Amino acid sequence: MNKKVRVRFAPSPTGPLHIGGVRTALYNYLFAKQHNGDFILRIEDTDSQRFVPGAEEYIIEALTWLGLEFDEGVHNGGNYGPYRQSERKDIYKKYVDMLLENGNAYFAFDTPAELEAKRNEIANFQYDASTRLQMRNSLTLSKEETDSLINNREQYVVRFKIEPGQDVIVNDIIRGEVKINSSILDDKVLYKSADNLPTYHLANIVDDHLMEVTHVIRGEEWLPSAPLHVLLYRAFDWEETMPGFAHLPLLLKPEGNGKLSKRDGDRLGFPVFPLEWHDPKSGEISSGYRESGYLPEAVVNFLALLGWNPGNDEEILIMDDLIKLFSLEKCSKSGAKFDYEKAKWFNHQYIQKKSNAEIAALFIPILKEKGIESTAEYVEKIVGLVKERVSFVKELWDQSAFFFKAPETYDEKTVKKRWKEETPSQLTELISVLQNINDFSSHNQEEVVKSWIESKEYHLGNIMNAFRLAVVGESKGPHMFDITAAIGKEETIKRLETAIQNISK
Ligand code: GLU
Repeated sequence: MNKKVRVRFAPSPTGPLHIGGVRTALYNYLFAKQHNGDFILRIEDTDSQRFVPGAEEYIIEALTWLGLEFDEGVHNGGNYGPYRQSERKDIYKKYVDMLLENGNAYFAFDTPAELEAKRNEIANFQYDASTRLQMRNSLTLSKEETDSLINNREQYVVRFKIEPGQDVIVNDIIRGEVKINSSILDDKVLYKSADNLPTYHLANIVDDHLMEVTHVIRGEEWLPSAPLHVLLYRAFDWEETMPGFAHLPLLLKPEGNGKLSKRDGDRLGFPVFPLEWHDPKSGEISSGYRESGYLPEAVVNFLALLGWNPGNDEEILIMDDLIKLFSLEKCSKSGAKFDYEKAKWFNHQYIQKKSNAEIAALFIPILKEKGIESTAEYVEKIVGLVKERVSFVKELWDQSAFFFKAPETYDEKTVKKRWKEETPSQLTELISVLQNINDFSSHNQEEVVKSWIESKEYHLGNIMNAFRLAVVGESKGPHMFDITAAIGKEETIKRLETAIQNISK
């Protein structure tokens, strides 16, 4: 088979894209890129009842943020369009007619009340070979009756006529051979006259066929539909071009019991959506990875490893690595536990990987908000000194505020512990030592200050701790002389003077 690989991500615009859906899109993307294939965005919006405005735009924005560019789709076109199912109505009608003509489908006129009555009459009622002849459909009505009902605009559905007793085999790339008997399937509705629209199953198969999709990579929840899809391919006589199926493992709650849901995110305090979502109906706002401060590279890496791994211990894999290494065969069959701490760990790693200039560019707007104007060069230097301490760019402020402004208060506990009787006079001496240093580099200051402390036989810890308290306001921060070298001699001395004046015990 030398056909060009073509895969599609086919979400229904029923709300924000869940993080599990993002992983599905990512796996499709990796597979397409690895095979120099096409990655298609198709919007499956045939269920107008569940349509949510803004959902399609949200999906595109989220995937663009993560760097998953489509080759074809609703937003960028292509040779197989339209890519929105609601715009393909006319196409489907023809295929429904094809199934009706070759006897693989039939019209059914049963009203909701009639169906309800049947359900009450027969326990576990299923519309299938065992019951269809008791119902009001084109198999039980004469051709004339059927035609006249249709001509009188009676509402109908078209149902798939499933032959019972056949083995249906789905060769799933991840799960191997999945075999079921067609007798357990019901005669699925493929088309509804009420809105002139096909249902998901028909539209999905017809579009995969017409769009020459070679592989269907989707969530585990679609596995039960796969046998029906195989039968549809058979009914259309398209078996030869049937795509390969790969049903991805579920994303599980952190505790491992059951499917990850939005409620788990709310309960444990983490986002389950890529971007913040404003529900157009309820007005409710759900948090997103982007707004929570995640780098898109970290989210991609984290998600890629939920259900797949390259088979060694390597964890930091950028998009290009993932494209090279990804394999559907190595995806696990069992669910992947969602580990939020790991997401943070990945973000920390990616912050370290980025250059100081890149992180500074993200930090400068935060500084501006705090009223701090500083040169990019200075911010870069500070980022370099503190970034190993943070997992998110927004945490940089807490770790580095003292590089941008003098402390306004002094931590009480630290004052109690570190500010001694002799401290003011020692720090006054320190001021004159610093004043005499011409080369204010971290290394040189350290040498000069330490030899002064030694010559005076002062206690190194006491001096340094009080020095830090005066400059930082508490006992935190990177190497002391890196701080003073960054803020400079004048500012260092000013802070020492202020502390001597203001701290009293
Ligand atoms: N529209 C389906 C969904 O929302 C697509 C499933 C598939 O990929 O076939 O997930």
